[in-house]
This record gives sequence, structure tokens and C-alpha cells, in this order.
Amino acid sequence: MNQYKLLTPGPLTTTDTVKKEMLFDHCTWDDDYKNITQKIRKQLLSLAHVSEDGYTAVLMQGSGTFGVEAVITSVVDENGKLLIVANGAYGERMESIAIHANISYKIYREDYRKVPSAAVVERMLREDPKITHVAMVHSETTSGILNDIASVASVVKRHEKTLIVDAMSSFGGVDIQVGKLNIDFLISSANKCIQGVPGFSFIIANKKKLINSKGKARSLSLDLYEQWETMDRDGKWRFTSPTHTVLAFAKALEELEAEGGIGKRSERYRENNRILIERFRAMGMKPYIDSRNQGPFITTFYYPEDADFTFSEMYHYIKERGYAIYPGKVTEAETFRIGTIGEIYPDDIEKLSQIMEQFLKERKG
Ligand SMILES: *Cc1c(COP(=O)(O)O)cnc(C)c1O
Repeated sequence: MNQYKLLTPGPLTTTDTVKKEMLFDHCTWDDDYKNITQKIRKQLLSLAHVSEDGYTAVLMQGSGTFGVEAVITSVVDENGKLLIVANGAYGERMESIAIHANISYKIYREDYRKVPSAAVVERMLREDPKITHVAMVHSETTSGILNDIASVASVVKRHEKTLIVDAMSSFGGVDIQVGKLNIDFLISSANKCIQGVPGFSFIIANKKKLINSKGKARSLSLDLYEQWETMDRDGKWRFTSPTHTVLAFAKALEELEAEGGIGKRSERYRENNRILIERFRAMGMKPYIDSRNQGPFITTFYYPEDADFTFSEMYHYIKERGYAIYPGKVTEAETFRIGTIGEIYPDDIEKLSQIMEQFLKERKG
């Protein structure tokens, strides 16, 4: 099979050195292994700019959705009510989670192209004092829009509610001051901007609120408190841990630091994204999201006006030449998406642009 690089929002292209870490079958009871888990948890807190006094990191088996579901179904109790802020499929997935677990909720639906408004959140909190928790997505991977968590966070804090943020496709790729923003539960996963492989999600949690959730979880395996309580003793996971993924993740964290930390990685992603939009615009492909709200992680494009090809034709043409792209996910328009995260550099974006140019030329005959 021909190798290709992933221009998708995760899993994404990782380094060979990260992949090589997985050639070792580690014992889960072993102290060395437990210490790796503990070190990862410390490093995550440091990336989130929080200390062990107020916060803790919990690793949870499964993909990112398992982490979001673990938080929502563990911390919103029977008397609680969740306000979901949604401007894309991942916000709507939180609604599905609430419905499945029979959690009382309200939803603030926003246009996929608009950043949710803190003023609307404030009005909803004022109108419904039963609301105890607010959940929102930071980088909505559906469109690529980067939501303004800071303005919503300050409203949530003023009303003394608990804030849950799905920062799946942004954590590690842009600096997030978790403590300063008063985020109580932030969820991300191994296979996004930290550039590890799939297998677990992680939660940066306000320790007091986590402890307060003891006994409230609706699920056994996704019980956030129990997961933490076991893991916090000595780094042993509650049930079988994805050992290979954990080793790869530890290496990926080392490589993030070697690159110069989140600041440097963020610059690289931004540069990838800047070149992508500039080159694609010149070929007649407009981004779906306004430039001031566009995040650096993934970009949704409209097809060129005179396009006479399908996504599948374009996908296969590009894949044969070394890159895999992503179909669109917004509901009301024909679009496709290009991710600019992972082990991807401006040179890759330049190559992709040339392949796309060639494809469009051939289609026009
Ligand atoms: C990737 C992602 C998730 C998790 O999706 P999984 O398919 O479970 O990995 C959740 N929210 C956002 C914003 C994401 O980008």
C-alpha cells in the first residue's frame, strides 16, 4: 500500500519515533509503566497551566467521545441541569449524550458559521436558575471555527456554574489557561494536537468538583471519579489500559517540548493554515468560516464554482500523490475539509496545493 500523510482532524500523522515506542509490550502492573502514567498526568497539568493543588488529570480509555461522555454522565447529578452550547456536530453530540443518560438539559443552538454569544448564555442562565453546568466546544471540528471560550467562561463564573469544555482538537495546539478561565472539566484526546495515536482521552479536572461527583456516575466504566481514585494512588489504571498508546503519548509529549512547547506548535499550525487558505483561495476555493473566526486546525472549503468532480475523485487523486483529505460535515453546503495538524509542515501544504492545482487543470482539460 502507498503511504500517505493525513490532512485530517485526527487521528493524524505522527512521527516515526512516536510509532516506534509501540514496539514494546509493557506490563501494566510494572512500576516503570505506572510512573509513565503519573508523569503524563503531571505534564498535562503543566500544559494546562494549573497546579496539583486545584486540578488533577484523569486518563480514560477510548476515543475522545468516551471522555466527553465520562464527564457529562459523571458530574451532572440527578438534580442538575446542563446547558449545551452547540454550533456544530460535536456540540450536538453532547446533546445525544445527555439524551442517552436521561440528563436534564437545555440547548443553545447557534449557526455553524457563528461563534456562540456569551450574552445569550448569560440570558439563558438568568432565565433558568435550574441550570448547574454549561458545556461547550472550543474548536468545532465540524467547520473549523474557533469558539470564544473566554467570554462564555467569564459569564459561567459570574453565575457560579460548572464549566465543561470539549477542547479535543485544540488542546496542545493553542495555549489554554485552564485555571485563569475557570474551566472545571476540559477534555481532549491522545490523537489530536499532542500528536499521539488513538486509544485514550484525558480530562483536566477541578479536583474539588471531581471529588464532589463521587457516587453520581451513571456508568461503571466511564465513572470519572472511580477512574481518578484508582489512578491517583500510584498510576495503575482501573481496567486494562491502552499500553502502546500510553508509551506513544509519553514520547509525543517529549517531542512537543522539543519543538518548543505549545507556542511553537501553534505557530506551525497557524503557518500551515495561512498558506493553505492563501493557496486555495487563489484556486477559487473559499473558506466556509470568516477569517476572524477560523481556527488553525481544520478548514472547510466550498468547491470551486465551476467544479465538475466528486469528492471521491478529488480524494483519490490526492491520495495517490501522498495525502488524505476529509469530506465536509456542515449540513447546508457542499464542502470538503483540510486538516493542518499533526506532523505536517508548510512544505506539505505547498505540495498539496500543487497537487490540487494539477487536479483542477486536468479536470478543465
Ligand atoms: C475528535 C473530536 C471529538 C472526539 O471524537 P472521537 O471520534 O470520539 O475521537 C470530540 N470533539 C471534537 C471537537 C473533536 O474534534
